[in-house]
Amino acid sequence: NRVWRLRKRPVGDITDDVLSLENEAIPEPGEGEILFRLNYLSLDPTNRIWMSDMEQYMEPVALDAPMRGVVCGTVIKSNTPEFKEGDIVSGIGTWADYQIGSSASVGLLGDTGDVPVIDAFGTLALVGPTAYFCLLDIGDPKPGETVVVSTAAGAVGALVGQIAKIKGCRAVGLTGSDEKCQWITEELGYDVAINYKTQDVGKALAEACPNGIDVYYDNVGGKILDECLKLMNLHGRIPTCGLISQYNATEPVPGPYNYDLILMHRLKIQGFIILDYMDRYPEALEALSGWMKEGKLKARLDVTDGLENALQAVKKLYTGDNMGKLMVRVKDV
Ligand code: NDP
Repeated sequence: NRVWRLRKRPVGDITDDVLSLENEAIPEPGEGEILFRLNYLSLDPTNRIWMSDMEQYMEPVALDAPMRGVVCGTVIKSNTPEFKEGDIVSGIGTWADYQIGSSASVGLLGDTGDVPVIDAFGTLALVGPTAYFCLLDIGDPKPGETVVVSTAAGAVGALVGQIAKIKGCRAVGLTGSDEKCQWITEELGYDVAINYKTQDVGKALAEACPNGIDVYYDNVGGKILDECLKLMNLHGRIPTCGLISQYNATEPVPGPYNYDLILMHRLKIQGFIILDYMDRYPEALEALSGWMKEGKLKARLDVTDGLENALQAVKKLYTGDNMGKLMVRVKDV
């Protein structure tokens, strides 16, 4: 049983000495628990947050403990009537071949119909509901409004732009390569894509948003947030979904510099954590899978094979080398 353990808290980028891969005994489930085998491990920007001993929305992973992850697995042994052998579960687990779960940490993935389990897990377990609730509940986009999205070619951002289009909005995406820009405009229907690494972001945004910005879906914070603040319309909304530009920071990050515009333009900025929406998951799953069936919502997976490659793979999130939802495949179901 291979288990990745957190050995060191990262300073800056995730380095090879932060986690170690150990060979350990397969654990025994206690009363009310299950043993499951890992099929897919979702790699998420928040993995970096969990590695740090910083103020956050969950406990940080303890030093020497197995690394936490969003997982999909097959039940091998069950000591609870809630699950039976062979069930496919998903939820919060660890970076390990075999692990213990319970109804407090995982739930049934449910019947995915024609959708392969890997796609259902990749899109619907975390990033789909995040895009859905954070955009619609907090961003509250109205038809005809302009929605700007950062990390627009990423797992969450790709879906946010498409949902904005379904809701009749103009969608403008920022991402870090010309290939990603081309993909989000030609395949996903974004109206305009901006390469924030090569273009003047302020100028490009002003051109792309002639009527200003009504909703800025923030996945990055930093400079892009500041440029968007300048263009926000009166009563604009900024759902704060992520701050990936500062997850690897070694010093406190200054800004936003245009803070005064929150007052002047009566903006609403609200942080979002998907864990607060667990009881409303069925609503998102129904809408997202319906749009997927109708061909209105496309998703892309970026799959690395082998649990042993998880540490190298997770680094891609912070360099922008992933193209779609990043995950590790351990064993297909
Ligand atoms: P992505 O698939 O979008 O991968 C991360 C992407 O972030 C990279 O591909 C890269 O794309 C971009 N990026 C990396 N570093 C920077 C930087 N310094 N400045 C700007 N962009 C950068 O990951 P997810 O879709 O899973 O996550 C996107 C965001 O959503 C993250 O901030 C994450 O924390 C957040 N999130 C929040 C949740 C919540 O409940 N609040 C739940 C899930 C995700 P590029 O090539 O475009 O630079």
